[in-house]
Amino acid sequence: MTTFADLGLSQKVLSAVTDAGYTIPTPIQAGAIPPALQRRDICGIAQTGTGKTASFVLPMLTLLEKGRARARMPRTLILEPTRELAAQVAENFEKYGKNHKLNIALLIGGVSFEEQDRKLERGADVLICTPGRLLDHCERGKLLMTGVEIFVIDEADRMLDMGFIPDIERIAKMIPFTRQTLFFSATMPPEIQKLADRFLQNPERVEVAPPSSTAKTVTQRLVAANKKDYEKRAALRDLIRAEEGELKNAIIFCNRKKDVADLFRSLERHGFSVGALHGDMDQRSRTNMLAGFKDNQITLLVASDVAARGLDIPDVSHVFNFDVPIHAEDYVHRIGRTGRAGRSGKAFTLVTKADTKYLDAIEKLIGQSIEWMSGDLSALPASEESQDEPRSRGRDKDRDRRKGGRKAEPRRAEAAPVIEEIEVQTEVREPRRSENRPAPQPRNERPRSRDNDRPRPANDDQQRRRNHYRDHDDGPTPVGFGDDIPAFMLIVANAKA
Ligand code: AMP
Repeated sequence: MTTFADLGLSQKVLSAVTDAGYTIPTPIQAGAIPPALQRRDICGIAQTGTGKTASFVLPMLTLLEKGRARARMPRTLILEPTRELAAQVAENFEKYGKNHKLNIALLIGGVSFEEQDRKLERGADVLICTPGRLLDHCERGKLLMTGVEIFVIDEADRMLDMGFIPDIERIAKMIPFTRQTLFFSATMPPEIQKLADRFLQNPERVEVAPPSSTAKTVTQRLVAANKKDYEKRAALRDLIRAEEGELKNAIIFCNRKKDVADLFRSLERHGFSVGALHGDMDQRSRTNMLAGFKDNQITLLVASDVAARGLDIPDVSHVFNFDVPIHAEDYVHRIGRTGRAGRSGKAFTLVTKADTKYLDAIEKLIGQSIEWMSGDLSALPASEESQDEPRSRGRDKDRDRRKGGRKAEPRRAEAAPVIEEIEVQTEVREPRRSENRPAPQPRNERPRSRDNDRPRPANDDQQRRRNHYRDHDDGPTPVGFGDDIPAFMLIVANAKA
């Protein structure tokens, strides 16, 4: 069996790995580390959770032992799609690089430029960035990319989903052709393969089987739900309460960030200990929120896939899918948050009639059908489907009180220190409008496809103007004002004919 000592890593790195408690390299590490140390390009196909981060951090640390950084000329560059992933990679450098004296600079949005400039001035051995913030620094003339020897593109398929490819192409043009490129992606659709072909020279391809199976230790159940959000929220609360005895902590996944914010507020109103993680939150709130969840100050974490993807969150007892994920592989990722290392976990998925095709794709991917908890979709009372959304929050609350819900809430937050910091922009504004004028359609109820999530192809200038897409899991591109129509435009003038 291959050990870390067989891979060619330096003594300093090996001793940090031993201190981290790792004895056996994971398959991606065993496959990628030796060729990376030989300065070969790597095309790694692996998901997070496979030990992928160490597969590039460890050889980079070894290679960086020779040479020194110069002011404003980073020696290596790592691109990550989200701030959290970038921060996580920086943590990995600290952990495995504890025997090295390397200057690591994390360039992510939501942190002041000045602080980052100071790090760059000192000379960065490793630069870990989200693409937008890196380009902003380059435009400020604070960075010279001509000294980059190793270029890492991580989570390439996620970068594609988030519309970052034009940015990455711009960045790649600034880096010397002679660099070593380490390219990682969880999946390899043709667009990503083309990208890899452009960026890599004679790469070593290392592939780790994607997790298409779910752990046997996870009990999976489907729960038939009506499509109205308020009914889904009530169904979720019932589920959480029913699990009270076993529920230690849980992640609740929504497909859209607006729903993350709405559900968070609803659960908070109902007295649950809850936090949220979505792309519109500022960096400090995101970091605090994650820390609060890891420290068990918060029991429930409502999250979107993009915000939660790749995060190294410790084992949770429960996963709730408030929405059936649109991409089947996201189901495997989501429920993989529980039942780790042989422990038992539970995963519940709320399913509406509209979700049938997504559910079929999931069951096909995991090669098994998932058990319904108490009756499948045919058991749903048809009449409830046509009920209208209650007009005020009060009714939702009142209904719950009548059921004794508030008193019965498990794990009520006695103090929620981080919650006040969240910036949630979900207040549904009710602009004045005439009766015969159609109401603006909420952004998130417009038909949505994977393509809608991406900024449309654009030239560089347009791309630069679209900064708001960076580091965000924005919903579909709005048409016109989207749902942000200024109220004054909706007032119909009372003109007499
Ligand atoms: P990653 O895929 O990089 O997000 O890593 C997932 C988790 O696996 C992290 O918590 C790592 O600390 C851990 N890990 C990485 N390499 C190993 C290893 N060789 N043995 C055990 N755990 C590891």
